[in-house]
Amino acid sequence: MQFLEHVPLAPYTTFKIGGPARWFAEAATEADILKAVEFARSRNLPLFPLGGGSNLLVADAGFPGLVLHIALKGIEQEKEIFTVSAGENWDCFVSHAVERDFAGIECLAGIPGTVGGTPIQNVGAYGQEVSETVVSVRALNLATLEFEEFANAACGFSYRRSIFNSTERGKYIVTRVTYALRESGQPKIAYADLKRHFQNSATPSLREVSDAVRTIRRSKGMYIVAGDPDCRSAGSFFKNPIVSAEQYVRIAAQEEIEVPHYMAADGAVKIPAAWLLERAGFHKGYALGEAGISTRHTLALVNRGAAKAADIFALRDRITAEVESRFGIRLDPEPVLVG
Ligand SMILES: Cc1cc2nc3c(=O)[nH]c(=O)nc-3n(C[C@H](O)[C@H](O)[C@H](O)COP(=O)(O)OP(=O)(O)OC[C@H]3O[C@@H](n4cnc5c(N)ncnc54)[C@H](O)[C@@H]3O)c2cc1C
Repeated sequence: MQFLEHVPLAPYTTFKIGGPARWFAEAATEADILKAVEFARSRNLPLFPLGGGSNLLVADAGFPGLVLHIALKGIEQEKEIFTVSAGENWDCFVSHAVERDFAGIECLAGIPGTVGGTPIQNVGAYGQEVSETVVSVRALNLATLEFEEFANAACGFSYRRSIFNSTERGKYIVTRVTYALRESGQPKIAYADLKRHFQNSATPSLREVSDAVRTIRRSKGMYIVAGDPDCRSAGSFFKNPIVSAEQYVRIAAQEEIEVPHYMAADGAVKIPAAWLLERAGFHKGYALGEAGISTRHTLALVNRGAAKAADIFALRDRITAEVESRFGIRLDPEPVLVG
């Protein structure tokens, strides 16, 4: 295992932004992870686990500690139970399952990043979330150096959230995830875009659904295609805010058109962040220097070519200030800020 110095991080991220890691190593086994933790501890360095870099914004100054690229590989199957190493590419695992006729993750096709990244923010799209199929998560406790197995209920999953990005943030490295899929199960067609896509076909296959999801994502610049400038992003930059029923009524009263919304838990209301941005004047293709909004998806902030992290922050700040002043809603960014 090699410990490299001053390694540029931008190529490891989908934003293609960010300064160097003071130290950088790749872990192919759990033993490598333990070695890396020991290396960081003995030098008193912060440690950052890096997956596919698809949900990150790395600071221009880089990261002052050890960036550990999680590259553990392997997929094991026992009937309907799939145990997958954290460094496997997520979209390849979706194809692996769909080709073998297993349902449960077909709508999550085309999401970039690694398997280990999926439980962190409970990735979700097109009507599915990984929390629906995760059985357990194996992770190294960085305080005790013991490997622990978290059952689904212990992961604290909710919208773009788990214990791993909230209460236990930075305390664990995920090494593998176990999913329960359904052999010959029906695909989930719950999301409006998918219903529209299949309005004339009676029973689409899992393969047709996952292909359709990739096609729809591609039309929105949310499927990574080399050379597509709308893909130099971290996906959706803002979470959909969840507000109280009273706050929703107040916002609805101030707008002259209907405010789109979905009911969330406990009577709260989820409002699409993309709608808030559009109403506040931030349209597809909006540009602020080298930072911009994707020409195909309002929620994706993009690197227009030579953006620094500072350019993305400037655009983020302009958007959050405007949305807050108009609606009284403070938008939460979805990507993790590094360094
Ligand atoms: C074009 C595009 C579309 C996207 N669409 C979606 C979408 O539809 N739905 C959605 O939910 N997300 C979406 N994303 C965001 C992103 O793809 C997911 O969050 C993905 O799961 C991140 O995984 P990763 O391996 O790239 O993690 P990274 O970006 O490398 O890391 C993200 C966070 O997870 C931590 N992490 C990663 N691996 C591990 C590990 N093994 N152990 C501990 N911590 C770890 C990192 O430390 C960091 O805090 C999109 C991103 C892009 C660029």
